[in-house]
Amino acid sequence: MDRKQALAIVQPHLKQSRFDHTKRVVETAVDLAKFYNEDKQKTEIAAVFHDYAKYRDKDEMERWIISEYLPKDLLHYHHELWHGPVGALLIKREVGINDLSILNAIRWHTTGKAGMNKLEKIIFLADYIEPGRDFPGVDKVREQAKADLDLGCWLAAKNTIQFLMSKNQPIYPDTFHAYNDLLITVK
Ligand code: GDP
Ligand code: FE
Ligand code: FE
Ligand code: FE
Repeated sequence: MDRKQALAIVQPHLKQSRFDHTKRVVETAVDLAKFYNEDKQKTEIAAVFHDYAKYRDKDEMERWIISEYLPKDLLHYHHELWHGPVGALLIKREVGINDLSILNAIRWHTTGKAGMNKLEKIIFLADYIEPGRDFPGVDKVREQAKADLDLGCWLAAKNTIQFLMSKNQPIYPDTFHAYNDLLITVK
């Protein structure tokens, strides 16, 4: 499957604005992949499908989490977090993608986790810094992304935690685990 074929599969599942975001994530991720010597084709496919389940019905996602081997604690956190793990499950079933490294990069793209591999970090970071994003502090993260992949991911996790805390929102433990784990490597 090449980029064009993958985009054609994902497009009907997304709104136009989300599809445009997806294409920018692909460009950003492939750029990082070249820079950090990651497999270009895997990066492309993971980026194209990373938000595949973004518009699935909340109740449907809840049913997948309950019936499949997915962490049940997700149900106690914001449903925004569900499209990663549910998306990984659905692109395996519905699209037939079986590559575990691609599926895991999609699975963890929102929360991050401790011990992310290079592809997981690239998708996590590309989703955060793609040129359409306007989070507070994103320019600093963009600068750091090409200097140090771990530092870029750490700053993205830190900003997300700070943002959620400023709104008194719960924070999924894996996001803290990503922050703590990356802190050791960037120190
Ligand atoms: P998108 O799907 O491209 O909009 O981006 P993401 O998949 O990264 O994120 C969805 C949103 O989930 C982010 O904007 C976060 O603010 C929000 N969110 C809610 N709870 C959490 C959490 O516990 N951890 C993280 N990392 N994000 C969270
Ligand atoms: Fe997402
Ligand atoms: Fe993200
Ligand atoms: Fe995204």
